[in-house]
Amino acid sequence: MARTVRAYIGLGANVGDARRTLTDAVAALSVLPGARLDGVSRLYRTKPVGVMNQPDFLNAVVALDVPAGLDPATGATQLLVELKNLEREFGRRKRARWGPRELDLDVLVFGRARLAIDRPPEGVPLSASIDPGAAARLLEVPHPSMRDRLFVLAPLADLAPGLVPPGWHHTIETGRRAHERADGADGAVPVGAWRDGGWS
Ligand code: ATP
Ligand code: CA
Ligand code: CA
Repeated sequence: MARTVRAYIGLGANVGDARRTLTDAVAALSVLPGARLDGVSRLYRTKPVGVMNQPDFLNAVVALDVPAGLDPATGATQLLVELKNLEREFGRRKRARWGPRELDLDVLVFGRARLAIDRPPEGVPLSASIDPGAAARLLEVPHPSMRDRLFVLAPLADLAPGLVPPGWHHTIETGRRAHERADGADGAVPVGAWRDGGWS
């Protein structure tokens, strides 16, 4: 049995039938090569951040055991390539960062790895959908913005409240509570619990 790493992946959508998209995306993630789905958060309705004049988002997080790869940089980049392929399959078109999108899949956590990768490591087939020029970093894990985002902390706290991501000094649940105290809970409202392959 190949070595695996526990990854947490953030999902978001606010174009089209977002609930359907996220449900299908969880199914697609669960059948990625060598992957095993080990938990799905509640579904949250969240207020857009950054670009405000767009529809509310639906957000969730999944726990996924994925192949470790030769080293963390290789394994995490491989996962990113697969996420970007899925985004494209689900019809995501190139739009402004933080703008509306059919599907956004972010690597939140990749085991105990702390990575800030500017270019894909040797041997990782670079998907055409990854544009290294689109961001300062090809891949940064833990995701640098997740500590500031209730729409990530709330669903992640459903799955891993006691997790202290590498480089952090507090748990996910502590972060979630601090945000809720500061901004109120209506930034991320649960609208469904995962059961039998869907949120209800
Ligand atoms: P944000 O990263 O602030 O959530 P976004 O999700 O809207 O913004 P995208 O346009 O989806 O941004 O992605 C831009 C680039 O970010 C991707 O092409 C990818 O190379 C890079 N990136 C860096 N770190 C990560 C990560 N942990 N997960 C996913 N993409 C990442
Ligand atoms: Ca994102
Ligand atoms: Ca993204």
